[in-house]
Amino acid sequence: MIDSPLVLSKMTEEQVEVLQHVDAACRELRPIEDRYYLERNVNREVAPIFSKHNAIGFLIPTEFGGLGMDVPLYVRAMERVGQEGTSPRTFFSCHISIGASVISYWGDSNQQRRYLTAAAKGERIFGFGLTEPDAGSNPASMQTEFEKTTGGYLLNGGKKWIGNAAEGGTLVTFARDSSSGKISAFLIDADTPGYRAELIRHKLGLPTAGTCEVTYANCEIPRENLLGDEGQGMKIAYSALMSGRLGVAAGSIGIIADCLQESLAYSRSREQFGKPIGRHQLVQRHLGRMAVKLESTRALVYAAAERKAEYDADRKNQKLREVADILIAQAKYFAVNAAQEAAHDAVQVFGANGFLLTNRPARHYADARACQIYEGTNEILEQKIAVSYLGKEFEAFN
Ligand SMILES: Cc1cc2nc3c(=O)[nH]c(=O)nc-3n(C[C@H](O)[C@H](O)[C@H](O)COP(=O)(O)OP(=O)(O)OC[C@H]3O[C@@H](n4cnc5c(N)ncnc54)[C@H](O)[C@@H]3O)c2cc1C
Repeated sequence: MIDSPLVLSKMTEEQVEVLQHVDAACRELRPIEDRYYLERNVNREVAPIFSKHNAIGFLIPTEFGGLGMDVPLYVRAMERVGQEGTSPRTFFSCHISIGASVISYWGDSNQQRRYLTAAAKGERIFGFGLTEPDAGSNPASMQTEFEKTTGGYLLNGGKKWIGNAAEGGTLVTFARDSSSGKISAFLIDADTPGYRAELIRHKLGLPTAGTCEVTYANCEIPRENLLGDEGQGMKIAYSALMSGRLGVAAGSIGIIADCLQESLAYSRSREQFGKPIGRHQLVQRHLGRMAVKLESTRALVYAAAERKAEYDADRKNQKLREVADILIAQAKYFAVNAAQEAAHDAVQVFGANGFLLTNRPARHYADARACQIYEGTNEILEQKIAVSYLGKEFEAFN
């Protein structure tokens, strides 16, 4: 990892130790992830490896066996995982950022005990099922419906592009009341009769992350699996996306760091015109640009993490929420685009070798593209940020 002059809030010895566990898991993961990437198969060894190193329960409170990370530490951990690749970081985004941590924030004590303990050990894998084939940027237009039954709810519909949905675990998911039209959030276990998840093939990148199309056919959800109150679905979804976007932004720092590290090594060893290419000034320009992107992205993402931590400490404070929400949107937008540009530069530094998926820049180049689409496309975030300055009356959509 390239050391940064930027520091988060001072870390305790315990926190440093947690990051060392994450680092050890990342090192073990690398050759395995390499193999799955080239085979283009889902890597199902991420959870076992991170569990073995006691490094999987990122944001899950220690009382449930998690690592009890605070937000700045979580950002550092996601940054480290992102350096290994956007597929494993996406696994963590789904399992923790928009999966288990939603239960930490919104679940009742029974749900927390039942699900968080299993999530912290990696025994049950989590995901977040919001997007549908015809409801992407506007998830509030979802078609998935529920009816109330004597024991709970009957769900019908389906979701698309859902990470970790084929891992046999649990999804935080959303459906509309067929009578009132209001949207609620549910926990749906993969062994619920009528639940079916199929892997989506032929993706541009993220081949080792399991992204699925999910069908709910008459899925009976017990009453105790309603998350939050009825009708709170979109509130829960948007609060999950704050944590999710921060994770994507943090992972993007890892992409830039890895692109820079790989490019520095290649620039020192590859020779053309009788000298290492790192001595050619136009190659130095690529390196310099990556380095500036690395530190500027870190500065913004770390600042957003601090604001999120302030909001988490006082979750009734709407002002703190708004400040964190917009800074996270800015950090995610800036970070994913900086990562895409850094990957572009790294491919260029590697020349034809950058065009090979056996080299890391090519993978980052393909994988970083997804980050500009999921958890708020570039366009949706640009408008959200602009409106936060213009005022709500300028909202282009709601
Ligand atoms: C690899 C991958 C993994 C994913 N994982 C998950 C997951 O785990 N869970 C989940 O719920 N979802 C997931 N998604 C879905 C993702 O969140 C959506 O793809 C995203 O929200 C965009 O929706 P869409 O693809 O339907 O695009 P659309 O909404 O159809 O948008 C198409 C284009 O139009 C633009 N556009 C749309 N509306 C506007 C507007 N009002 N103004 C300006 N431009 C607009 C968009 O920015 C985009 O460029 C994943 C997607 C990918 C690619």
